[in-house]
Amino acid sequence: MSDCLFCRIGRGELGTQFLLETDQLAAFRDINPQAPTHILVIPKKHIQSLADLQPEDQGLMGDILMAIKSLAEQEGLEDGYRVVVNTGPDGGQSVGHLHFHLLGGRSLQWPPG
Ligand code: AMP
Repeated sequence: MSDCLFCRIGRGELGTQFLLETDQLAAFRDINPQAPTHILVIPKKHIQSLADLQPEDQGLMGDILMAIKSLAEQEGLEDGYRVVVNTGPDGGQSVGHLHFHLLGGRSLQWPPG
């Protein structure tokens, strides 16, 4: 999926500033933030959504969660935060490349819309 937006961001083609980057993943600020901290963490490999994960992605998913933990610490979110993975049309996914939202810096409400 070479023309996928987040594949292109992951390859550095759009000049997006990364907060964290490894061979496998990248983290950057959401262009339309919904909280004082709103970071997206993506696998560089194209995975359409959480529903498309394969058994071999297990280690990568662990790496993403550990990256989120360290980003939350970096952002000073000691009072808590939320991790969201919108999946498919009913989940409100608008970009067809798996991404984890890290939201924090304010009190978040529940349930979501
Ligand atoms: P979702 O609705 O869960 O698919 O989330 C997609 C997110 O990607 C939204 O929060 C958008 O604001 C964000 N987004 C779209 N394009 C960009 C971009 N070029 N850079 C950073 N964030 C983006």
